Formats: sequence, C-alpha cells, structure tokens
Amino acid sequence: MLRRRTVLASMAASVATPALAQSYPNKPITLIVPFAAGGPTDVVARLVGERMGKELGQQFIIDNTTGAAGSIAVGKAVRAAPDGYTVQIGHVGTNVANGTIYKNLNYDLLTDLAPIARLPQNPMLVCSSLQVPAKTLKELVEYLKVNPDKIPGGTAGMGSGSHLGALAFFAATGTSYQLIPYRGTGPAMQDLVGNQIQVMVDQSSNSLPQVRAGKIRAYGITAKTRSNAAPDIPTAAEAGYPMEVSIWHGLWAPKGTPSEIIDRLNKAAIAAMQDSDVRHRLEDLGQDIPTPAEMAPAAFAAFHKEEYARWKKILEAANVKIE
Ligand code: ASP
Repeated sequence: MLRRRTVLASMAASVATPALAQSYPNKPITLIVPFAAGGPTDVVARLVGERMGKELGQQFIIDNTTGAAGSIAVGKAVRAAPDGYTVQIGHVGTNVANGTIYKNLNYDLLTDLAPIARLPQNPMLVCSSLQVPAKTLKELVEYLKVNPDKIPGGTAGMGSGSHLGALAFFAATGTSYQLIPYRGTGPAMQDLVGNQIQVMVDQSSNSLPQVRAGKIRAYGITAKTRSNAAPDIPTAAEAGYPMEVSIWHGLWAPKGTPSEIIDRLNKAAIAAMQDSDVRHRLEDLGQDIPTPAEMAPAAFAAFHKEEYARWKKILEAANVKIE
C-alpha cells in the first residue's frame, strides 16, 4: 500500500511539473535584490529584470531585502516556493564570501539554491570624496597611514563586494580605513559625495557615474587592464599597488525549481545579455558581459563552486568571520 502511494505520488509530481512549466509564467516574478535601491546590484537587477520580463511576457517585481550583507535576502530566496516565481540576484559577496564569513547561516550557498545564469561582472574603483586632499593612490595611502582605521569608509556590510574590495586594498597598501556598513553602496555613495564618509572601493557601475559627474575622485581600478569605459583611470598596479577584484553577479532560484523553468529563465537571461541596448548600458558602466556558454546553468554552477573555494581560502587566511 505504502509502495503504491509512493508510486502514485511520484507520478503526480512528474505530471504536475511539465504542466507547471507549460503555463509558466502566468503571473509576475519576484526578483529579490539583496541591497538597497540605486546601488550597483539593484542597477543590474532592474536592467536585466526588465528585459527578461519582456522575454517571458511577465513583469519582474524588484524586492530590495537588505541587511547582513545580503544574507537575509538569500535566506528569503532559499525559503521561497520553488515554482519559478521567486528568483534572487546576488554576487560574489552574497552568494560566495558570506558562506565563509557568516558562521550562523542556516543554509548552504552551494546546494540550497539552483543556479539560473551567470550575469555581468565589473571591477572596482578606489575612490574618495573631493574633500580628501590626496590626488594619487600613493597620496591616498599616505593620508590613510597617518590615521589607520580612523578615516570613515563605506561598505555594504561584512562580506559585501565593497568589503572584499576594502580587504584587497588593505592587503595591497598596508593601511586601513574604518568600515562603516550601509544597506547597499547606493546610500553609501550619497554619503561619499557628501563627505560623510571619505573613502570607498566599489563597483565601477556605482562609482563611475559619480566620477564622470565630478562628484568623487577615482585613484585606480582593481583590474589587470584599464577599462574601455574609463580609459583615464589607471589600474591600481600602474598607480603602485597591484590589486585585482572583480564583482560578478548571478541569478538563482530556490532549490527544487523545475529544470524546465530554470531553462526558460536561463534563456531569458541570455536574451537580456544579448540585447544591444542592455549591453550598451552595462558596458558603459564598465561591466563585462558573460558569453551564453558561461551563462549556462551547469557552467555557472561549476564557476560558483570554484569561486567559493577560492574566496574561502582568501577569507580564512585573512581571518574574516562573524559568529
Ligand atoms: N555594491 C555593493 C557591495 O558592496 C552592494 C550594492 O549596493 O549593490 O556589495
């Protein structure tokens, strides 16, 4: 009897899955964004979500769930129904570094979410407010060395991209600044412009528009080569302090989301990345667009795993953890 019930239950599940996938999507899809509106993750989410929505014939509704460097948002995605109506955008901080840094996460970043697609990545800019007297990266380092750990700097919390950028900066320069956590580097950027904080290392997508507007100063880019979007900004290595950090983004669904639905979402994400208007807007912000092959769920899962192991080593060596 028990066996018969199990067989019937599994038949019902296998019938239900294609039916669900066929009618999918028949209502708006929630896109969980782990940081505040107006910041770099939010900008990528809105651009990609809007285009994916067109592709799928349903709107993507942005849900900015902030706090604990994105780990609250990821928890919300893990607990959501695996029906394709909740997806989460994240990056190398929220879905990689946090797994090593936060010892009390009640989910596993590598197994509790299903990868949908890799999304663009961008280097970071070492920046300051215009009130900081330093004109070069060397001068900025000298300025910070006078008061290590005292000059206020912005991050989106321990484990965020801007925290990883700060750690790379500290390692490369032998100095440090005070890490002030925000709910995203959108609000932190407003405070950098207003000089409430003085330094930040953040994605080019957030810092470049302010540099172009003459509202903050950039000293170096955390990449091997200069960016086409900002050819005047030297690499950190050219400015005397080699450091490379690239913040890649990705899209995930709760574990158990039917593979047909993951496939539909993946195709929509690829279509968004191939759209010339979306590409142009992302590239103008210094973002590199992944190829369709890199965006395939299996390729993305393998990349995610490698990145997880790579950052675990770096963060454990730096002894960064939160109990
Ligand atoms: N760029 C931020 C970070 O430091 C987060 C954000 O606001 O998108 O991870």
